[in-house]
This record gives sequence, C-alpha cells and structure tokens, in this order.
Amino acid sequence: MTVTVTTYETATEAAHAIAAGTSTHFLGGGTLIMRALNEGDPSVRSIVMTGDIAMKQIRPAGAGMEIGAAVTMADILGSHDLGFLHSAARAVGGPAIRNMATLGGNLFARSPYGDLATALLALDGVVVLASGGGMREMPLSEFLAGRDGVAKGVVVSVRVSRPATLEAFRFHKVSRVRPKRIAVLTLAAHLPMNSGRITGARIAYGAMAPTPIRVPAVEQALEGASLDEQGIARALAVACEGCAPANDAIASEWYRREVTPVHLKRLLLGQAA
Ligand SMILES: Cc1cc2nc3c(=O)[nH]c(=O)nc-3n(C[C@H](O)[C@H](O)[C@H](O)COP(=O)(O)OP(=O)(O)OC[C@H]3O[C@@H](n4cnc5c(N)ncnc54)[C@H](O)[C@@H]3O)c2cc1C
Repeated sequence: MTVTVTTYETATEAAHAIAAGTSTHFLGGGTLIMRALNEGDPSVRSIVMTGDIAMKQIRPAGAGMEIGAAVTMADILGSHDLGFLHSAARAVGGPAIRNMATLGGNLFARSPYGDLATALLALDGVVVLASGGGMREMPLSEFLAGRDGVAKGVVVSVRVSRPATLEAFRFHKVSRVRPKRIAVLTLAAHLPMNSGRITGARIAYGAMAPTPIRVPAVEQALEGASLDEQGIARALAVACEGCAPANDAIASEWYRREVTPVHLKRLLLGQAA
C-alpha cells in the first residue's frame, strides 16, 4: 500500500488537507501513528506534517501558559516554566518515547494512555484548533468528549492555568509495574487554597472512562473543605461518580473502582502514590 506524506508550512494548510482528504492523518511524534502505519492499518493512507513554529512554542499567556502541540514530553521536562507538568510528562513511556511523544498526540491517545492530557484537563486546558473552517478554541473537556468528531483538524496548542505553587498541583500515575508503565489509573488535582480552604478544585482521571475526564462530584465535595482526613471524606465517598472504567488487560473495572478512593486520598493528603 502506498502512503503519501505531505509537509505544509502552516497548521492551517495542514488542517485544510485533512478536511479535504479521507484516511488522512496528522503526524505528531509518530509513536502511535507510525506503529499503526507499520502494522498496515488501512485507515492510514495519507500523512500530513507541518513545521509551523506556533506548534513548538512554550510561552506565558495571561496568568497561564500556552504550550504548542508539537512540544514533546522531553521539551516539557526541559522547561523551567512548566515545572508543574514535569511529573505528568515523566509518566509517559520511557526516554525514547518521551523524546518523540508530543502534547498534541497525547490528546488522541486511547485509554489507558493520555497521562499528560489528564494533567492538562485538571488545569482548565483550552485547545486551540486549526480546522477547515479556520481557527477555533474549545475547553479541553469538550474536545475530549467529542474527540472523534472534532479530529478533522490540527491541534495548534493548549492553554493551561499556572498553579500558584507546585503544591497546588498534584499528579499520580498508578501502575502495577515499576518503573511506571501503562496506567491502572491516573489522577491530577489542581487545588487552589484560600485561608486554608479549597476553592475551585479541579480533579481529573485517566483510564476511568474512554477519554480522560473531569470529576465534578469530587470537585463539588471539595469546595470549601480543608485538606485533611475529615475535610476530604465527602470527596472520597463520591470518588467514582460519573466514571466508566475499562475492563482491560491492565485492570478490571471492579479493581479500578476499588482503588480509586485509596489513591485519591493519597493524592489529596500529599502522600506518595
Ligand atoms: C512503548 C510505548 C509506551 C507508551 N507509554 C505511554 C504512557 O505511559 N502514557 C501515555 O499517555 N502514552 C503512552 N504512549 C502513547 C504515546 O506515545 C503518547 O500518548 C504520545 O503522547 C502520543 O503522541 P505522538 O506525538 O507520538 O502521536 P502520533 O503518533 O504522532 O499521533 C497520534 C494520533 O494523534 C493525532 N495527532 C497528533 N498530533 C496532532 C495534532 N497536533 N493535531 C491533530 N491530531 C494530532 C495523529 O493524527 C494520530 O491520530 C506510549 C506509546 C508507546 C509506543
């Protein structure tokens, strides 16, 4: 099977090519799409790429940060400004994968992958997307919920909030093999504090639904709570509300539901995963 590869100058041009073609896919770092191609996946007939500089940038944006979709996990680990995302980037694969795997590709990775996407979700991520109809923005939660429907485009960047302190953002990846491998469960929490009380918590899980999800029941239960055993008890009681974990070779749905409150408790109390 012949596969065509075309390079465009801008993300917008690449998005037009994707919108116009069938079986046309964008190439990020290639850790997933090249495997599909090498395995002869017939849905990959045409590959588009771009060297658009906007997709490689890491820059302040208002009170937050804007991170280009072509930024790799290794780039994040090399960025002092993105220190709050280092634990999430380090959780993705081994060194060779982290050198290639991009932020943009992570938004499309099938569960239980999507570790970085889970962290971005807890930081109120907003996706900047080039599509056949021009540039548009949408909350990452909305993007992930309709991912297969909106995939006809190129993710240019994601804007995230910057936590006030490193302590205000927490990320745990739970896996059965060390060093970290595929997730049983991934948890991310942004916990802004005001006078010792949580205000505007954001909680996200990976591997607990077909895509990374926010967990509004837990967020609401944490509003105004203190970060101690008594304060978080209501949140632990609703830890799995709205979740639909997979049954896969890594863990059963039952197991994922059983361990989620245990790991949420450790995350919120600042204990090791
Ligand atoms: C051995 C191994 C270990 C792995 N371990 C982990 C892990 O621990 N955690 C984890 O989360 N993932 C893991 N992955 C999955 C994968 O490496 C990452 O999710 C990575 O971030 C995917 O990014 P990529 O740039 O390589 O995507 P690609 O393979 O380039 O693309 C993946 C999909 O996303 C689309 N895409 C990519 N970028 C864009 C864009 N900017 N706009 C629109 N569409 C786009 C592509 O068209 C394709 O459909 C692993 C993979 C392997 C092979």
